[in-house]
Amino acid sequence: MTTRGGYTFSAGPVMLPAPVRERIRNDLGDWRGTGFSVLELSQWDETLLAMFDQVESDLRDLLGVPDDYAVLFLHGGASNQFAMVPMNLLRGRRHVDYLHTGLWSGKAIQDARRYAEVNVAASTEAVGFRRASRPGEPRWDERAAYLHYTPVETVHGVQFDHVPDSGGATVVADVSSALFSADLDVRRLGLAYASSQKNLGVVGMTVVIVHRDLIGHADPRTPTTFDYAVHERTRSRFTTPPVFPWYVAGLMLDWVREQGGTAAVCAASRRRSELLYAAIDDSGLFSAPVEVGSRASASVPFRLTDPLLTQTFLAEAEAAGLHGLRGHPSVGGLRACLYLGMPEAGVHALTGFLKEFEARHG
Ligand SMILES: *Cc1c(COP(=O)(O)O)cnc(C)c1O
Repeated sequence: MTTRGGYTFSAGPVMLPAPVRERIRNDLGDWRGTGFSVLELSQWDETLLAMFDQVESDLRDLLGVPDDYAVLFLHGGASNQFAMVPMNLLRGRRHVDYLHTGLWSGKAIQDARRYAEVNVAASTEAVGFRRASRPGEPRWDERAAYLHYTPVETVHGVQFDHVPDSGGATVVADVSSALFSADLDVRRLGLAYASSQKNLGVVGMTVVIVHRDLIGHADPRTPTTFDYAVHERTRSRFTTPPVFPWYVAGLMLDWVREQGGTAAVCAASRRRSELLYAAIDDSGLFSAPVEVGSRASASVPFRLTDPLLTQTFLAEAEAAGLHGLRGHPSVGGLRACLYLGMPEAGVHALTGFLKEFEARHG
């Protein structure tokens, strides 16, 4: 279905903040006086190299990433990390801990099983992934090389309010939907990864923030391009780097700073989701499955109490300029993703539409 303006609540690619979109448009003519667009420059062009460095230092600044962590800008999705993490972090061990709290951590577990003995230290599958695991629930394996969890489960709309206890093992986090939407203390994590098409702009890149002590121990069978050490040594230029998403990430970081920084955009993100949750909780026609206390800021799943109305809802929402509200196929229902580019006006448009829809169909 074609979209014609309005707001899109899809899970990725997502809406860009309007000023970021505008800067991309302008830069496509002549980027920083090079006479070319950013898409056409050699990867060794000095203006481009300076941009790469600037984005890294801005990211370090905004997220408080200390020098003993490397920041890697890699091709491919967050899904690549489901395999790269065990390839690189087992360090001769065989056992790993994973928390299973939704679709994405489930996929990470599947890939880890190709390399390691996975202990599912906690799972919320029995409660339909309607909440995060609670402190005290994880039963970790003393032999585990690391514990992996997903602070924000995008599909199920579940967010952790704490870093799980790992019994001292390194904690690894898939922060794809947590970056710039939930509190993150990088220093409590050994490794964090996020794909760019959520809160870092456009698709095509995954940022990996990894403690340098964890680099350089890849399994010997690891292909060169999957070894973090290679990317650290080449400053993410072992393979021709993902120039365009890297550049857009820089624009996103500038924008985050203009909004007041990481804490400010996280607070705005929380406010957007609270507005939407209030409208859903107030309604007799819509309901939200995720427990209070585990509700994600970036992704709000909800449903109609009468599921037969779902198709009508989606068609009428499209007509009203509210796009991308279909739930992930694995869970069905409805979902609104509220990433950085979603203005509060978009949430008001959606809550207004929910009320109006209920008046007509409730
Ligand atoms: C979107 C998402 C992924 C998948 O990212 P790809 O870049 O499509 O591989 C993984 N984990 C989480 C938490 C996500 O939100």
